[in-house]
Amino acid sequence: MCDAGALIEVMKSLYQKGLITVLSGNASVRCGKGFLITPSGVPKNKISELAFVDLNTLGWSGPKPSIEYRMHAEIYKNTDAGAVVHAHNPKAVLAARLGAELDPEQYVETKYAMKRIAFVPELEAGSSELAEAVGEASRRADVVILKGHGAVAWGRDPYDALNKLEALEYLAELSILELSFNRPSRERT
Ligand SMILES: [Zn+2]
Repeated sequence: MCDAGALIEVMKSLYQKGLITVLSGNASVRCGKGFLITPSGVPKNKISELAFVDLNTLGWSGPKPSIEYRMHAEIYKNTDAGAVVHAHNPKAVLAARLGAELDPEQYVETKYAMKRIAFVPELEAGSSELAEAVGEASRRADVVILKGHGAVAWGRDPYDALNKLEALEYLAELSILELSFNRPSRERT
């Protein structure tokens, strides 16, 4: 809880791994009656200060929070998440577009990293519609793919949520390869 250092480190990792561009993506940790979240418009490899958002009022203090703060708030309201991480996973976005199955049970890497993946339709970034759709999906999944946009994962801490996004990208890569071979896994013996 309130682990700002872990959050800053996770944002650097996302950027280094190509899961976000320098000004996209956001992450937060639950902290008291609200959550600490990455600021808006600050390069992700240079974050030093976080914004605090109150879960009841959605009022904030410190630097201006990420535009997706409502989405983070909805996940904290609907789950026991300790941290929420949102990235723009390129392969996961493509896999969803291609209609890949994306079943975490298929591989050891994903089976133990996450429970369930849900999908939400393409909705405007930063909108309350997107926040509500993700909040609703977070009741039945711990990884949510935002079609044409990216993915958001929640977990006990920022590293747990990051691990889910990395595992999702692994699953998406294998699913795209599988589609390209035109050989669905269920047809294998
Ligand atoms: Zn985004």
